[in-house]
Amino acid sequence: MNNISQRDSAVIWHPYTQMQLAPGAIGIVKGEGVFLIDEASNRYIDAIASWWVNLHGHSHPYIAQYLSKQLLTLEHCIFAGFTHEPAVALAERLLPLLPGNMARIFYSDNGSTAVEVALKMAWQYHDNRQAGRRRLIALEGAYHGDTFGAMSVSGRSLFTRPFDALLFDVSFIPFPHPGREEDTLQALETLLQQEDAAALIIEPLVQGAAGMRMYAPAVLEQMIRLCHTYGCLAIADEVMTGFGRTGTWFACDQAPGVAPDIVCLSKGLTGGTVPLGVTACTQEIYEAFLSDDHRHTLYHGHSFTANPIACAAGLASLDLLLAPACRKQIDAIAGAHRAVAKRWQDRGALRDIRQCGTILALELDTGAAGGYLDQRRDFMYHFFLERKILLRPLGNVLYLLPPYCITPEQLEQVYEAIDGLFAVL
Ligand SMILES: *Cc1c(COP(=O)(O)O)cnc(C)c1O
Repeated sequence: MNNISQRDSAVIWHPYTQMQLAPGAIGIVKGEGVFLIDEASNRYIDAIASWWVNLHGHSHPYIAQYLSKQLLTLEHCIFAGFTHEPAVALAERLLPLLPGNMARIFYSDNGSTAVEVALKMAWQYHDNRQAGRRRLIALEGAYHGDTFGAMSVSGRSLFTRPFDALLFDVSFIPFPHPGREEDTLQALETLLQQEDAAALIIEPLVQGAAGMRMYAPAVLEQMIRLCHTYGCLAIADEVMTGFGRTGTWFACDQAPGVAPDIVCLSKGLTGGTVPLGVTACTQEIYEAFLSDDHRHTLYHGHSFTANPIACAAGLASLDLLLAPACRKQIDAIAGAHRAVAKRWQDRGALRDIRQCGTILALELDTGAAGGYLDQRRDFMYHFFLERKILLRPLGNVLYLLPPYCITPEQLEQVYEAIDGLFAVL
């Protein structure tokens, strides 16, 4: 018997997992629409889109066919001095879709690298212009990835603690909690007035890993506007919020009065099939790197930059995403979330219930401070697994972030399981 789960326990080191305490990993043999199917034929509803990446369901036949065709045409080629159709076509299709006036696409491998590239672009943009702007600003509680640059602009936390001494200095401003937005804007303006800020990096509208913390589009707009008043670049990390998650194609679309200078994408970019990162920037940033002087070059790149299969997945996913049926699914999920949020609004067990598009977050009242290691987290995780639903609470925050193909019946099944949780809390 080739038990995947047992073989795994002898050879694999899993991400974000205390291997001594974690139970064995569930061996998945197939993905099908909203379901992950394990070795024992259990069918789990993937209600968190496998860490926020999946848009159209697992093993989507359209994407699969698109990719197999690409595999037999061109699987990979070097992306310096050479180029190819999927990379160019994806850039052509993405640019007009992105918020602001994005002019160039820089490819990399994942969300963290998309952020690394954004930080380097912003930093060197000022350096190439001898502008002497060396301050980076981020929000408290931010999560921008696990590489060192991305960790540096992320909130110092349990995740970064062993490495804190190695992270570069970043000025953190308070998260714009509803009702306390002025604190954020004032802290930002005070920093900007020193005229040394290179860039502000933000997760627009929703801080994902911090527990799906949300803030109003007006604050997003004001933060970006302030940056531009003081000559500071605004980087929108749309790695999680991109491609319809927040109800609009991009979170920044909800602040149409302003435009970010750099946008980071990954996760849903390929519909969640294969890894790919994108850092998009304006013409102004791009032009600051054009020079007879080689020192003005952006010396960054990865072996698999613009992998054709990944770019093809991006194209296939866009076909599905931009079809009217997908828009309807996104609206239906958002509508169902709104309705159930009403149903739950007076639940004593909840400290807060919040929604942004297809993301619904329930913050449990724990009495204590909560946080990632909250004990209820493990209880909830297993409670839902037993009911064949994959929900992976962030501490005391239980959230839904489903693939867009989830049906109203499947959504209701998840809501009812949550009702069941309320009954035992
Ligand atoms: C997940 C995430 C990242 C990191 O992406 P990876 O592909 O996991 O490296 C960066 N920023 C945000 C907002 C994310 O949610």
